[in-house]
Parts: sequence; C-alpha cells; structure tokens
Amino acid sequence: MFFFFVGGVEQGAGRALKEAAGRCLRCGGTADLVETEKVLKLFFVPVWRWPGKDPAYLCRECGLLAPGSLGAEPGPSLLPREARCGACSRAVDPQFRFCPFCGSAL
Ligand SMILES: [Zn+2]
Ligand SMILES: [Zn+2]
Repeated sequence: MFFFFVGGVEQGAGRALKEAAGRCLRCGGTADLVETEKVLKLFFVPVWRWPGKDPAYLCRECGLLAPGSLGAEPGPSLLPREARCGACSRAVDPQFRFCPFCGSAL
C-alpha cells in the first residue's frame, strides 16, 4: 500500500486579544497578544483548525509567534522602548548605565 502524506500541523495566529501587550523575543518590536489556532494542512490546504491552548505574542515587525509564557509580562510592567540595550536588545532598567546582560554602555 502506498500512502503519500504531505502535510502537517502548523500554529497560526487568531484574533488579537490585546494590542501591544508584549515585546518580540527576536527583534524587540511591538508584539500583540493573539489567540492561537492549530491548522492541519494536507497538501498545503488547511483542512482542519482548532483553537490552541494558550494565547501567544505575535510580533508586528518580524511576525514571530512566541508562546505567551515566554513573552514579556503584559500590562503596566511593560518597560518603555528606550529602556533597552542597544547592543543585545534586552530590556534593562532605565537607571542602569551598563547592560547587565552584555556589559555594553547604555
Ligand atoms: Zn520580532
Ligand atoms: Zn546588552
């Protein structure tokens, strides 16, 4: 019996739950909190989709979809855009003069 299966399950982004709720892990851009859905594709055609368990962060800049558990904390704890290391793009305390992660002067 010959069975040729082309397809797989992909994770996609559903509707936005909260705009600008977090920050992208890869590029540091603004990320929206979105519902996730899993899409089963057969021969590149979506045949079935069902909601994912957890919301995720979808980056507006690069499109990275990161699990919500890995993203920045939502809400008022979000640091302003300036409080970020220019070298490694990690969020740092605005009062720091040097990045605690890579040691670059801020
Ligand atoms: Zn990004
Ligand atoms: Zn740094």
